[in-house]
Amino acid sequence: MPTDPTPAGTVRHPGGCLQPVLLRGRVDQIDGATGELLHRYTTVHEPGGVLPIACKTRRASRCPPCAEVYRVDTYQLIRAGLIGGKGIPVTVAQHPCVFTTLTAPSFGPVHACRERDGKALACHPRRNAGACPHGVRMSCTQKHARDDDQLGESLCPDCYDYTGSVLFNACAPELWRRFTITLRRTLARQAGLTSKAFTAQARLSYAKVAEYQRRGVVYFHAIIRLDGPTGPATTPSAWATHTLLTDAIAQAARAVHVETPAAPGLTARTLAWGRELDTRPVTTTGDLTDSKVAAYVAKYATKAAECTGTLDRRITPADQLGELPVRDHARRHIAECLRLAKLPDLDHLHLAAWAHMLGFGGHFSTKSRAYSTTLGTLRADRAAHQRETAQAAGLLPDLDGDTTLTVTDWHYAGRSYLPSITELTAIESRAALPLTGGAPCPGSC
Ligand SMILES: [Zn+2]
Ligand SMILES: [Zn+2]
Ligand SMILES: [Zn+2]
Repeated sequence: MPTDPTPAGTVRHPGGCLQPVLLRGRVDQIDGATGELLHRYTTVHEPGGVLPIACKTRRASRCPPCAEVYRVDTYQLIRAGLIGGKGIPVTVAQHPCVFTTLTAPSFGPVHACRERDGKALACHPRRNAGACPHGVRMSCTQKHARDDDQLGESLCPDCYDYTGSVLFNACAPELWRRFTITLRRTLARQAGLTSKAFTAQARLSYAKVAEYQRRGVVYFHAIIRLDGPTGPATTPSAWATHTLLTDAIAQAARAVHVETPAAPGLTARTLAWGRELDTRPVTTTGDLTDSKVAAYVAKYATKAAECTGTLDRRITPADQLGELPVRDHARRHIAECLRLAKLPDLDHLHLAAWAHMLGFGGHFSTKSRAYSTTLGTLRADRAAHQRETAQAAGLLPDLDGDTTLTVTDWHYAGRSYLPSITELTAIESRAALPLTGGAPCPGSC
């Protein structure tokens, strides 16, 4: 199977994709009754003899043009669940709906940017703070700027609970799953209903996105909505209010936990959400509007763990941990993942595979089935629109779908790579350096 990348420049990059997959092959459209070949598309006549297909990644760090398409689709999907559209009735805007943030607990003091009323505050001031066993005074009176490299770094790396941080990341998806189950039960109890009666009267819908804090832990932002029994098209019961939903979220968040087992070099732990919980109603006017929430969720759906200073790829056995181009805080998380990955009792957490994500192996963006439309539907609608446009322009034959057979024959022919934005920025900044003083010329001069 050919896997060599085709040189960039000989093929198109659809939608500006930096890393399209290249296919070689053909599509035959045949009359189902007579066997007559009605139309044939072949890649032979394409530039380079291949058809480039956009990578469609969600990650802005890998392919910004494709991630932008993903962001816009996610925005549409999230907003439809808040105000209707894309097949969701506009009456959904009247259903109780909140935006909540579930955080991680503390794993030790870290440098932080603190502000109040627009005024910078000291990071971690402790007048009578003693020194830790490693001789580090547990206080920091600096007023860190928002772009300070120290943000998220622990005051003492040797005291910081990297084990807890990594295990929390690894168990966060399970913690979320238990939270949604407990939330349904709590809502039923508050409404004075059995679980069965609750299901007959209401349906809980959500869309959530994971975000990394600089300190290296994930937390979840979620839109949580109460519908009638079949979802957004049915009106919720009178007992379903914002207050009831907000109270139930607080109770459920406090109630759930995940246990991790004891093992050699590891004590058993109980993992739970942090104390900080922020739940506010989503409205069409005011502070937290549908468009603000949709934009926020869509933005974080295209990100991963970049802000923690970790790697954008999996760690391999060939990697030397000390030589990885990562922040020390991230390096310690990665080292802890690799250490814990050797414990058979933690096999199910797949910590070696997710070490570069500091232990988190869950999905960044998920939603319940009835929340809204799907990304697949949005993509299919777009493809259908493009096909109709091409047919109207005479670029594609308008064949009868009921009587035409489509026979495809595709082969993978590699990928075509353009420099990523990061590489382009690096090249530009190198080019901006004065060429005297030993800086090598980045070009061919
Ligand atoms: Zn792409
Ligand atoms: Zn500090
Ligand atoms: Zn210490």
